Amino acid sequence: MNHNYENYVKHLQKISDLNHSGAVLTWDQEVNMPEKGAQFRARQLATLAGISHEMFTSEDFGMLLQKLSIDQTLTFEESKNVEESYRIYKRDKKFSIQFIEERSIAISNAFTAWANAKEESNFSLFEPYLKKVVENVRQESIIIGFENHPYDAMLELYEPGMTTKELDQIFEQAKAKLIPLLQKIKQAKQVDDSFMYKQYDTEKQWNFGLDLLKQMHYDFDAGRQDISSHPFTINFNPLDVRITTRINEKDLAEMLWSTVHECGHALYEQGLKVENYGLPSGEATSLAMHESQSRLWENNVGRSYAYWKCNYAALHEIFPKNLLMITVKDFYKAMNKVQASLIRTSADELTYHFHVIIRYEIEKDLIAGNIQVADLPAVWNKKYKDYLGVDVPNDREGVLQDVHWSHGSFGYFPTYSLGSFYAVQFFNKANQEIENLEGHISKGNMLPLLNWLRTNVHCYGKTYSASELCEKITGEKLNIDHFINYAYKKYSEIYELSSQYEPISS
Ligand SMILES: [Zn+2]
Repeated sequence: MNHNYENYVKHLQKISDLNHSGAVLTWDQEVNMPEKGAQFRARQLATLAGISHEMFTSEDFGMLLQKLSIDQTLTFEESKNVEESYRIYKRDKKFSIQFIEERSIAISNAFTAWANAKEESNFSLFEPYLKKVVENVRQESIIIGFENHPYDAMLELYEPGMTTKELDQIFEQAKAKLIPLLQKIKQAKQVDDSFMYKQYDTEKQWNFGLDLLKQMHYDFDAGRQDISSHPFTINFNPLDVRITTRINEKDLAEMLWSTVHECGHALYEQGLKVENYGLPSGEATSLAMHESQSRLWENNVGRSYAYWKCNYAALHEIFPKNLLMITVKDFYKAMNKVQASLIRTSADELTYHFHVIIRYEIEKDLIAGNIQVADLPAVWNKKYKDYLGVDVPNDREGVLQDVHWSHGSFGYFPTYSLGSFYAVQFFNKANQEIENLEGHISKGNMLPLLNWLRTNVHCYGKTYSASELCEKITGEKLNIDHFINYAYKKYSEIYELSSQYEPISS
């Protein structure tokens, strides 16, 4: 191996050691840490992050990257790694220590204020702190730089290559096609899911969840599952990828979907190449690509009839009383019930995207200065009425429900929807390439699909951008028609919608 490249790898892997040590502390904080530990934990995490930032933005490393960026002897994958590191290096270098510290303080204050405001259900307690964060984000977009819209700079942080212009088109199409579908569903005979909210024993749920994880080939020798209030996936390296779930005795759906969803994320991380540890090629492509993996398993597999044809008998055996008289078809329908609601995280597969579109439109206007922080509750409530037809009763269940803005994470929400759209496009392709995929799923044989994802998505890391990878796998760029056709077909069957639907092809 080229001597400079060897030094580059060593340096990045050391930084990765620091970052992932921080991740272990974060995991511990969410899963195990006693309450009083919070004060020093925040400091320890900040110290590690500071050292990591210094190492990454050092002049020496910059010079090494500069040399490697014009080195013609590197392989394709090596030069892609260098290109990506250099891109991040140049971006991170633009931020002064003063700006980073100011932002960190603003975020930390905003987070505390948000938690308090949510508890009190009073946006005005959050408003001055969010104002400061938004000022920071506006500044950040100027520092990063953009051509057309300041929001593009924020998208670059989470979904490199995605632009406001492209997102506008995607979401306009989503609105144009999905609003009429929602209307039809509203007028149709409604699905009964009341049995989901009976008493479901916690331990029995936990054990059933473990069986689902095993069926998906989550590697328990390279991970573990725990309980946390907000389910998440965290990786320390491809051989230690942990997930958490949440169990609600009165709502079976919470454990089911958090388990399958987080396992989808974890399978991606477990599928990254061990030898690429610390390098861009050893990291997930983008947030939307990550979300495509969790949602493919959650929605395209987990909410399919084939999946429950396989798993329902076992669930029925565990909860015979609750599921008495409920057939697998009833269960499948309940899993796919569509109902406009207030809370994004518990929304169904279809109305979910309106929660995202609302946030996207608000964020864009906020960053551009078209609306002000003080306008947020009114704008929020109006959009919920317009798009979902629901009245927002209070700030807690409205504008204060998500933590993201207090973290300064503007530009993050769209990746959730993009993930779902990629998921359908990938699943369709897998369905073409794997013989009798549905048959395999209905027998609980998830290996053909997992292997397909391993070889088509997981193994590349950041060697390709999300959009390049999508084109490489499916032969076209992200195309929302796949999602729209999927939604029309699925819900027309479930809700027995009378009018024939003509699939779109463009
Ligand atoms: Zn996710």
